[in-house]
Amino acid sequence: MPGFEIFGDEERKHVNDVLESGILMRYGFDGMRNNHWKAKEFETEFANKMGTDYCQLVSSGTSALTIALASAGIGVGDEIIMPCFTFVASFESILATGAIPVLVDIDATLTLDPEAVEAAVTSKTRCIMPVHMCGSMANLDALQAICDKHDLLLLEDACQAIGGTYKGKPLGSYGDLGCFSFDFVKTITCGEGGAVITNNKEYYIKSDQYQDHGHDHVGSDRGAETHPVLGYNYRISELHAAVGLGQLGKFDEILAIQKRNYTIVRNALSTIEGVTFREVPEGGVENHSFVNIFLPNEELAKKAHKALGDNGVDANFYWYTNNWHYINGWEHLRNVKSLGNVTNEVRNHLEKLNNTDFSKSDAIMSRAISSLVKIGWTEEEVIERAEKMRKAIASVL
Ligand SMILES: *Cc1c(COP(=O)(O)O)cnc(C)c1O
Repeated sequence: MPGFEIFGDEERKHVNDVLESGILMRYGFDGMRNNHWKAKEFETEFANKMGTDYCQLVSSGTSALTIALASAGIGVGDEIIMPCFTFVASFESILATGAIPVLVDIDATLTLDPEAVEAAVTSKTRCIMPVHMCGSMANLDALQAICDKHDLLLLEDACQAIGGTYKGKPLGSYGDLGCFSFDFVKTITCGEGGAVITNNKEYYIKSDQYQDHGHDHVGSDRGAETHPVLGYNYRISELHAAVGLGQLGKFDEILAIQKRNYTIVRNALSTIEGVTFREVPEGGVENHSFVNIFLPNEELAKKAHKALGDNGVDANFYWYTNNWHYINGWEHLRNVKSLGNVTNEVRNHLEKLNNTDFSKSDAIMSRAISSLVKIGWTEEEVIERAEKMRKAIASVL
């Protein structure tokens, strides 16, 4: 991460194609667009790379999650199980559909703990939403087994792990639906953007309609299209899709550089006694966007994080006290700072979070540090960085 580090002629060419015709919208204006369909092209190429039948490109990762839930008919009264360590988009998308976010513990994979998930299933549960945080995945076989047992949907948030695989399948393609973000800091960026992938034709058609005001997209006269469902506007623009198409052409190269840089950092850190690495489920391959380590305890983790900063090593995250990614920081969620009314069910569930025991997750998160792997680094720069990191962390142990 992030793909913007290697912007170049490819992105410029696709953007210029769009600017030359002047058609910034992904639909219509067939005669004026010089046959450029950047969003459509991206969808075909991305579905191909992910090995799924369908891809719907949209305006953000958060809207992708919202659309995925909506496409499966999720709404008011439904419960969605999600992790307590994630990006805020997880609960935002669930709340946007009117459904209830049910937050549960994570384990040493830094993603959903299957046991905590099983314990949270009720008669209202409709979907399990694993979030593949910091480049690696949840135990998808274990979660799928729970879904099979209780007839639930598996929706993968693969926004931070694009390019990783589980049992040979690209992350995002294992569940019923998978979501990606192409926001500015992700591995591949459109500036702003996101995608839903699926092999389910009905979910795909509903996603396609929902993200564009319910349009059926049949025929070539937009004004004459019917609206089989109520929708919204989560469309991506052709300009953003054009940037993404340039990035997609470099996807394999980006992943290869990430892996090289990750390996150099990981090898250096693995020589330190007292440092362990985040667990990766059997059969999983990370996308190498972060090196994630555990220190023996909270105090040492805080010291190590500080030592990294003091020694000029940037982009290291101590999520435990970072208000974007962990339940501790989400005061606005726990106290329902909603602009408008929410249902009593939603309010009760959210307020309960103030008294829910997340000590199992605390014990993991308080020891974890994630170090971003950039793709702009030269090999010499990574070797130098890895050595600085090794020294800084070893100095507190
Ligand atoms: C970035 C991200 C999102 C949301 O993406 P946006 O495009 O910024 O809306 C969702 N989930 C995770 C895990 C993310 O990292």
